[in-house]
Amino acid sequence: MKYNIAVIKGDGIGPEIIDEAVSVLRSAAIKFGRDFVFREAPAGGNAYDAYGTPIPKESMDICKASDAVLLGAVGGPKWNKAPVDKRPEAALFALRKELNLYANIRPAVIYPSLKKACPLKDEIIGDKLDLVIIRELTGGIYFGKRGRVAAAAGEAAYDTMFYSRFEIERIGRKAFELAMLRGKKLCSVDKANVLESSRLWRETMHSLSQEFPEVLYSELYVDNAAMQLVKNPRQFDVIVTENMFGDILSDEASMITGSIGMLPSASMGEGSFGLYEPIHGSAPDIAGKGIANPIAAILSGAMMLRYSFGLKDEADCIENAVSKALDSGFRTTDIAAEGEKSLGTHEMAGKIIDRI
Ligand code: NAD
Repeated sequence: MKYNIAVIKGDGIGPEIIDEAVSVLRSAAIKFGRDFVFREAPAGGNAYDAYGTPIPKESMDICKASDAVLLGAVGGPKWNKAPVDKRPEAALFALRKELNLYANIRPAVIYPSLKKACPLKDEIIGDKLDLVIIRELTGGIYFGKRGRVAAAAGEAAYDTMFYSRFEIERIGRKAFELAMLRGKKLCSVDKANVLESSRLWRETMHSLSQEFPEVLYSELYVDNAAMQLVKNPRQFDVIVTENMFGDILSDEASMITGSIGMLPSASMGEGSFGLYEPIHGSAPDIAGKGIANPIAAILSGAMMLRYSFGLKDEADCIENAVSKALDSGFRTTDIAAEGEKSLGTHEMAGKIIDRI
């Protein structure tokens, strides 16, 4: 069986880290006898320079014809003055919309050997932290009706948080399915004590929970969830929430891990199709220096194998290889402690490939 992967290298450090992620995937393919077919699809600032659009139709077609998309990062100061619809980020919005990517999945993992990077106390983190936040990506207040009006007290503005039962059910189902693949624990986060959209969210999640009796289901208000994430993050396995709450909580969770160069993410649509990318940006300050941490991109590749292709052993193998390389003391500059020797992007990936 062939697995077709669209590859968007993007801008800044994007090409450097994605080249390494592809090499790691190729090593896993050899080890497990898999057939991964990579097709490059230009997008972002480089595509704007070359084709006058951040996402040429041909690139979109390649993505649509693939089983999954692996993306580095797009953007950079060079394109800050480009028209809004031509800016590199427009490629991301177009991809999310055209590919109907409504579920954003962000793991927050702390590796035992990188515990020092975590800003929380040792007794809070224990040996390891491993949780996932799944966020609704195409609805809620970011997409609801908004505007400015003249009010009695002067100019006023409003945004609307709108959710249909259909939207809640489809993200809820993804979350329960994800929990089944992990520790079978799901916490739904809302603000049902105040918001009507949250009351519908809670009702819908609650009835969905009856379909997944094996999953230990719980609910939290978002303010409490924000506190619990720093007080006792190990209580969580999978958290599901709406768009804006997820935006904030997933950034809070990534800060707990302390290293932006380590965290992958997935945006998924119907079925098993997904777009996989590091949570970090194109890091223009270090682009071209060969020092970017390739681990977030490599782990994005592992997530793709796990969630889009169902290749659990292959995904485990890559994740374990990353763990082993870190345990052996190999570091890129962003995660090296003071005085620790650091490796370049290519060398670090090499240490991971050695352990595949
Ligand atoms: P950034 O994530 O690119 O960088 C923030 C800091 O983290 C920088 O100091 C950078 O050097 C460091 N960093 C990031 N990734 C790293 C890695 N893999 N290894 C080592 N260090 C790393 O965020 P920013 O500087 O705010 O944004 C830069 C550009 O990226 C902007 O144009 C922004 O719009 C874009 N961006 C794109 C995406 C995306 O493509 N999904 C996401 C976020 C930002």
